[in-house]
Amino acid sequence: MLNICWMRRDLRLKDHAALSHSLNDGQTIVVFVFDTEILNLLTNKNDQRVSFIYDSLIEVEKELRKYDSSLYIAYGDPVVEIPRIAAEFEVRNVFCNRDYEPYAKKRDKEVEKKLQKAGINFTQFKDSVVFEKQEVLTKTQSTFKVFTPYKNRWLEIFERSEKVFEHYPTKLKNLYPWKNAHSIEKYDWYKIIGFIPTPPTLPGGRDNALKRLKTFDKDISQYHQLRDYPAQNGTSLLSVYLRHGNISIREAVKFAKERKDQGHKTWLNELVWRDFYQMILDVYPRIEHSSFKPQYDKIKYPSDPDLFRSWCEGKTGFPLVDAAMRCLNETGLMHNRLRMLCASFLCKTLLVDWRKGEKYFAEKLLDYDLAANNGGWQWSSSSGCDAQPYFRIFNPYTQSEKFDPDGEFIKQWIPELRNSEGKEIHHPNPLLSADYPLPVVNYETSRFKCLKIYEVVKSK
Ligand SMILES: Cc1cc2nc3c(=O)[nH]c(=O)nc-3n(C[C@H](O)[C@H](O)[C@H](O)COP(=O)(O)OP(=O)(O)OC[C@H]3O[C@@H](n4cnc5c(N)ncnc54)[C@H](O)[C@@H]3O)c2cc1C
Repeated sequence: MLNICWMRRDLRLKDHAALSHSLNDGQTIVVFVFDTEILNLLTNKNDQRVSFIYDSLIEVEKELRKYDSSLYIAYGDPVVEIPRIAAEFEVRNVFCNRDYEPYAKKRDKEVEKKLQKAGINFTQFKDSVVFEKQEVLTKTQSTFKVFTPYKNRWLEIFERSEKVFEHYPTKLKNLYPWKNAHSIEKYDWYKIIGFIPTPPTLPGGRDNALKRLKTFDKDISQYHQLRDYPAQNGTSLLSVYLRHGNISIREAVKFAKERKDQGHKTWLNELVWRDFYQMILDVYPRIEHSSFKPQYDKIKYPSDPDLFRSWCEGKTGFPLVDAAMRCLNETGLMHNRLRMLCASFLCKTLLVDWRKGEKYFAEKLLDYDLAANNGGWQWSSSSGCDAQPYFRIFNPYTQSEKFDPDGEFIKQWIPELRNSEGKEIHHPNPLLSADYPLPVVNYETSRFKCLKIYEVVKSK
């Protein structure tokens, strides 16, 4: 009798909770389904995220081949495909790691129901987060809604729990030996799924994730000083690898704990944010479509389509915002400081509904993750659980002067401003940089309008 290990956002063979349990239990075949429910929503057939996954799968296949095994690939609705494959191989168990997104939870429930009907066990494990919702609770046993007390409790549990670093050994010699005529290496799965190979800005796979980690090892001690400056490359760029599980979260926290300096501590703090937003989405799935604080859904954003377009295209006349958006459009990457700035700018300066921006980021970000993206947008628009107060509005000029003082990042992405000198880069002179757009709004007037439309949140 065989087991299936169904891979989803955990594209690796090392330190993998579900695979470890599966291989301990018996011979295992590893399965990946190109999920039509997800792929059909991607209108851009040159989506680099699909290639990131594809490349990661090729790497998994190469590893499996060392054990005379192969990755079983399918294309379709997993609710149909997983029970079908389970029946084909007459398996006893399907193992996978938990996914906290509302769609995934619903899908997994349906898969479980179908498998149970066929007498097959379906078992899920914690793998992609350090702690799940029931593990970090307030003194009254409820979930936290504010980050700092959550973090304090998280760290308390973390410090006294050796299990956090528990590495899941994977007995790969228990992989099911078989020859796959339709392996991801040999077969043109791009053709089947209807996408075009598009090399991602950051290459997929575990080897590349480990290389990134090694590079970041040189910089992490200064992380707390450099992390806010987009021109400095002071962050890890590991989000996409954590998103797809090329490295495990346990490997990441272990790395963060290796030294006790401020850089390591601050970086660990970011991993706690990651857990926090996963937990919030798990406990409050409604936030996928509405504000965490319901009164924020009463705000009537004018959402001028021309202003939205100028933001998407990086043509608002506000240099750091435009540089960030052009970088996003071309690479799929955006620095955290700039995500906060662009998000705040869209909803609080251009007065466009934050959900439009959230959706745009979801289409473009290489590291797109529902929990973190929604968390970031709800934080920026003040509608989230532990968001900035509604009256805090980022000033795009001072943000630019503070975080890109010499305009290095701006000049990299806005050729029209490459000849600007001194502080002018933050306030372009239309006479000297005629090709660059004039500001699409007046910041001070917009600030006033924003406070006005946000007034509804004060009424109970
Ligand atoms: C509006 C907005 C949208 C965002 N959308 C996403 C998204 O779709 N996917 C995503 O992974 N992150 C998102 N973030 C969080 C953050 O910007 C990115 O995780 C970070 O920029 C990734 O770069 P890095 O790997 O170099 O991060 P580092 O600074 O090296 O941080 C280490 C890791 O911690 C995690 N992390 C860091 N900051 C956050 C945070 N605020 N929330 C949750 N996790 C965090 C990431 O996994 C990251 O790789 C968003 C933030 C905002 C403000």
